[in-house]
Amino acid sequence: MTTTVAVFGSCNMDLVAYVGTAPKRGETVLGREFHTVPGGKGANQAIAAAKAGAAVRMIGAVGEDEFGIQIRDTLQKSTVDVAGVRAVPGRSGTAHIVVDDEGGNSIVVVPGANGTVDGLADGDEELIAGSRSLLLQLEIPLPGVAAAAAAGRRNGVRVVLTPAPAVPLPGEILSNVDLLVPNEHEAAILAGDDDPHRALAALLELVPEVVITLGGRGSLYGNRDGARVEAPSFPVEAVDTTAAGDTFVGVLSAALGEGAEMPEALRLASAGAAVSVQRNGASSSMPTRQEITDFLA
Ligand code: ATP
Repeated sequence: MTTTVAVFGSCNMDLVAYVGTAPKRGETVLGREFHTVPGGKGANQAIAAAKAGAAVRMIGAVGEDEFGIQIRDTLQKSTVDVAGVRAVPGRSGTAHIVVDDEGGNSIVVVPGANGTVDGLADGDEELIAGSRSLLLQLEIPLPGVAAAAAAGRRNGVRVVLTPAPAVPLPGEILSNVDLLVPNEHEAAILAGDDDPHRALAALLELVPEVVITLGGRGSLYGNRDGARVEAPSFPVEAVDTTAAGDTFVGVLSAALGEGAEMPEALRLASAGAAVSVQRNGASSSMPTRQEITDFLA
């Protein structure tokens, strides 16, 4: 059964440099390779969910520039519906990414057109209302996130928030979130506790369900009824972990929307992320549902 996922969030062009060791402040290093590839946490989660089999509609904004055209094209090629992606005057969002030889990354995001997504535009409520889940991140203005979360709640849609980049979250947003999916750094900042198990307990005071992703150590799920699931990661050789978390969330929401129980959805999400970290790039590294199935076979 196909599920419908709405994503309300950022669309960027990722400008990716591959280096041996990332430069420190004041240092210049020679890179090995350079790619431009559409990204942004919103677009990445949309593509991950679409490749994992969901019918996805993206809501957001790109600039009236070449990057904006390429971003929309790439979303469409991954079968994402872009009727909700507006072209606005100015530059598209860009992410300046440095990937080192150990597969680690550091990222500067310049919001550009994403900065205009500060509320619902005409038609957005319908796109959200017709979906089973709504995926949110924090690369657009918080009032936009808040408006979308409220629309999700109003329409009985499961609201999934990736709190990245980590910023203090107004109660107005959290009160409309069903599932929070921070990585361990975001969880530590939001909960004020470095220990993932304690952070999980603290975050469950704020929202009904939480998954903390722990990189190569897997992920940890909990809900307010006391259920806990520890989902191990799959042992693979990571070459580029960019968008591992977005792949994880996209696959998780596709699987949950199809009716998978949480342990199975976490297993599929972990497998999807494990495939993606073995390849360079963000959206380009995301696996299809068939590739996830083959990986698990
Ligand atoms: P990013 O910011 O790069 O998108 P993230 O920090 O949001 O990633 P992580 O916690 O690093 O997210 O990873 C998400 C999930 O991806 C993990 O829970 C795990 O299942 C999988 N994963 C990440 N790194 C690895 C790895 N080295 N090997 C196998 N699986 C991995």
